[in-house]
Order: sequence, then C-alpha cells, then structure tokens
Amino acid sequence: MHELAICQSLISQVENIALEHQAKSVSLIVIGIGPLSGVEAQLLKNAYPVASAGSVAENTQLVIEYLPVKVKCNECGCESEALPNKLICKQCGNWQTSLLSGDELLLMSVELEKDDTLDDTANDASANANIH
Ligand SMILES: [Zn+2]
Repeated sequence: MHELAICQSLISQVENIALEHQAKSVSLIVIGIGPLSGVEAQLLKNAYPVASAGSVAENTQLVIEYLPVKVKCNECGCESEALPNKLICKQCGNWQTSLLSGDELLLMSVELEKDDTLDDTANDASANANIH
C-alpha cells in the first residue's frame, strides 16, 4: 500500500497547514502528480478516505492534476515537454536530456474552512488546546 503511505504524509502536511491557519476543516486539496512519480491517481483517491479518517482532512474533496514531463536537452539546451516514455528533445530529437519535472508529487493547494461564529481569541484557544 504505497499510496496509503503517500496519503498519510500528504494529510500530515495538510493538518499542519490547517493548524497554522486555525481552520476547523479542509474543504479541498489539490495534488499535482507527475507521470514519472510512480503514483497511481486512482489508487491515491481510493486510499484517501482511509488515510484521512478522523483527521481534519476527512471528507475533503481531492483534486488531482497531472503535471507535464519536461526535459532539458544536453545538446542544444532547449527545454521542452516530453512524453513519459520518450524523453527526447523536441528541438533536435536528441535522447541525451535531463529531466526537469514530471516525477514529482506535490501538494499544490489547500482550501481551509474556518468557523466564522468564533472570534479570533476562541480560535487561538482551540488551536492551542490541540497542540498540548
Ligand atoms: Zn536539443
């Protein structure tokens, strides 16, 4: 369960952000996945409810964006998008390229929900209570 471990680490990042901003829940998480990251988006989606159960990120909408694969040519220096299984330079067709992006898994954005009925002081108090 590779994806479950990934979900758990994402959720702990989200929890830290929520705590920092004193949010009561998280409404939306956007994750960017590069095709060379080895992460299956569908498996990640399946693992998410299990990993987030009982956390501040429970019942959060999960949006997955696919990041492009980009390479830099070692020959002509051109930076171009490439296919995951064909990392060649678009400019000159050279196979000698360095991967710029496409193997990452990123937490791109987090939408937080705050409890507007509480004033800032009350929010502070509950955030502190959670830490200790
Ligand atoms: Zn080139």
